[in-house]
Amino acid sequence: MEVLENKIEIDTGQELYEFITRLFPICRSITGDGVRETLAIIKERIPIKIHEIPTGTQVFDWTVPKEWNIRDAYIKDETGKKVVDFKNCNLHVLNYSLPVHKKLSLEELTPHLFSIPEHPEWIPYKTSYYNENWGFCISHNQLTSLKNEVYEVCIDSSLNDGHLSFGEYYVKGELEDEVLISCHVCHPSLANDNLSGITIAAFLADWLTKTKTKYSYRFLFIPGTIGSITWLSLNQDKVSRVKYGLVTTLLGDPGNFTYKKSRRGDAEIDKIVTNVLQERGHDHKIIDFFPYGYDERQYCSPGFNLPVGCLMRTPHGQYKEYHTSADNLELVKPDKLEESLTTLKNIVDIIESNKRYINQKPFCEPQLGKRGLYKSINGKQNELAMLWVLNQSDGNNSLLDIAIKSKIPFSVIKEVAKTLENFELLK
Ligand code: ZN
Repeated sequence: MEVLENKIEIDTGQELYEFITRLFPICRSITGDGVRETLAIIKERIPIKIHEIPTGTQVFDWTVPKEWNIRDAYIKDETGKKVVDFKNCNLHVLNYSLPVHKKLSLEELTPHLFSIPEHPEWIPYKTSYYNENWGFCISHNQLTSLKNEVYEVCIDSSLNDGHLSFGEYYVKGELEDEVLISCHVCHPSLANDNLSGITIAAFLADWLTKTKTKYSYRFLFIPGTIGSITWLSLNQDKVSRVKYGLVTTLLGDPGNFTYKKSRRGDAEIDKIVTNVLQERGHDHKIIDFFPYGYDERQYCSPGFNLPVGCLMRTPHGQYKEYHTSADNLELVKPDKLEESLTTLKNIVDIIESNKRYINQKPFCEPQLGKRGLYKSINGKQNELAMLWVLNQSDGNNSLLDIAIKSKIPFSVIKEVAKTLENFELLK
């Protein structure tokens, strides 16, 4: 990997943040024009292929749903004043709401209103994908200020046969073996959940395009759940190529990193991410797989059991702004986005450069002094790293295994191995 040999390039946090800012206003859902608009913006940065899968397509136990689109929605009081307006915030509409236009008393309207009493200023994000319904999400303050009168409610939406859209970007490496990076593109105006994962994936893809890689990389920009089920169903022949995988989500908040391991628990990707987070030296959490969360649920279903983990900062449900209007452009921070992208690049660096060597002088230690190796390798840590690499390079241990055993940074182990290879002590 040529660029990686030099230095990890830094895309500024500001660029990442601006990308999120552009995507933020779009009303996305699991299908519809909001997803298409989002994919079109991603396509300006990386040449993704956009797939359109027809409604009714059978994908394992699921069916591609009808396509949902929305143009406008509001609640008007008796004076004709809009007391709730979709144009102010797209979270106001229960996502996937059926079209409706009628007059209702407050009593009739109330079962269709959702709020969060604990955070009276925030608007919740709610969906009704596989259960036909309509509703409005409003702040609790708005809810309690509604008077006992007749309201005109309008949701100008459509739910018709159409398509499920998703984006795919494939970067060909030397090998057919693949690294899968997947993110969901189905949430409306939520910045951390959804947009941070999309942005990090798009920038990582862009960076990989400029490098020569050993592995091939596949990026999926898909609606949550139904998107990964659809991709897996249509690509069963490709699934065995996936050697490493990550779901990227929740990567812009100020919390520490959390890595949710693959279902296998001991896959190479699990070891790699654990090592990268440990080497950063900051607090972080490594958690075991559980069958709830994002698309790792599908990739790690027992029939596939792919080595796919999930990298996030604060997990879903563990920050108070989750799935509310407070998951906005103030919650995500440019420096945290940048740190997340750098972490992903460090993970890719290990995936690309981890190898198994064989010591060419395995009978006792080779004499390093007479080869001038002490001079070419400076410092006590590097000397120690050299002894570790020579001792452990029996064809079974990878450089990462040696870094883990020796507690020496992977970057040092990698450099030392390269030197020993140049001196023909490793192959
Ligand atoms: Zn979510």
